[in-house]
Amino acid sequence: MSEQGSARDGVRVLDGIKIAAEIKAEVGAEVRAMSAAGVTPGLAVVLVGHVAASEIYVRSKVKACAELGIASESHTPPETVTTEELLALVEELNARDSVDGILVQLPLPAHVDTRRVLEAVRADKDVDGFHPYSAGLLQAGRPGLKPCTPAGVMEILRRSNIKVEGAHAVVIGRSDIVGKPMAMLLLNAHATVTVCHSKTQDIARYTRDADILVAAIGRPGFVTAEMVKPGATLVDVGINRITDAAEVARFFPGDEKRAKQFAERGSTIVGDIDPAAFALSGAYTPVPGGVGALTIAMLMHNTVQAAKARRGVKA
Ligand code: NAP
Repeated sequence: MSEQGSARDGVRVLDGIKIAAEIKAEVGAEVRAMSAAGVTPGLAVVLVGHVAASEIYVRSKVKACAELGIASESHTPPETVTTEELLALVEELNARDSVDGILVQLPLPAHVDTRRVLEAVRADKDVDGFHPYSAGLLQAGRPGLKPCTPAGVMEILRRSNIKVEGAHAVVIGRSDIVGKPMAMLLLNAHATVTVCHSKTQDIARYTRDADILVAAIGRPGFVTAEMVKPGATLVDVGINRITDAAEVARFFPGDEKRAKQFAERGSTIVGDIDPAAFALSGAYTPVPGGVGALTIAMLMHNTVQAAKARRGVKA
């Protein structure tokens, strides 16, 4: 395991793309060994309707499967699909032995009972790690399928030799898919964890004491330089598209590459941490090219883990 990250003025950039490639290479090797033994892991993706962003995500997931030798199948019911029809599809995938992982791409149309559909997925095929059973295993500190984005953050920290044990980790955000499982993973790794959310009074009071600060809020540049302890590890989960030229100039002053991208596309991406704060950190994940790169790699990892556990393949 190599120490990841590159130095820039004493600040380490935690390169998510490089770490994701490392994980994918390891998963690919596992898939080849399993396939040689007669077991090809399989992922089924359910994509309802035509949400452009969802279509892009699903294409990337299917492509990653193909690269690593994981069998994949896409099911694309129309926007008008009913909850009952989706439940029947999930049941069919639950029952099929060649399917190791089932991923229901969110969001589902408003008329569909999303919770019922997600909870219908067999817990041992829940490669998104969103099922209450998976959340329960995580809470109990037992092996199980973990939500891909926070699990990816843990891989970034581990492979970059960032010490978690004994650190004060502050997580901003408490969603079921990022903030809560992130806090639990850090706690299980022996950090002292503080979770902040929209009702927290004076968030800076907590963030200024964070050795590891994870921002998963969905607010462009929410964490400012004044909120950060010098030398801290900053993990930016946020992905926010900004379209206002003044905002782009404020977050990326003098950044010609960004300005050019903005001129061409009319938008750019910023995380939940103001890039000005990164200069104070000991290490940080950039946006893009940080946490976002890990999510699909961890989905591939989960699919292989699910296949091994359910089909009794030894490590
Ligand atoms: P979410 O479900 O909207 O949750 C946002 C969390 O932030 C909530 O817990 C909310 O608190 C908290 N929050 C909102 N405004 C706040 C404020 N002003 N002060 C303090 N806390 C505040 O979002 P999510 O799904 O967790 O995603 C968070 C971000 O991560 C988004 O930018 C999303 O695009 C990104 N994301 C990235 C990846 C990836 O692959 N890199 C994956 C998933 C999500 P309350 O609970 O009190 O409302």
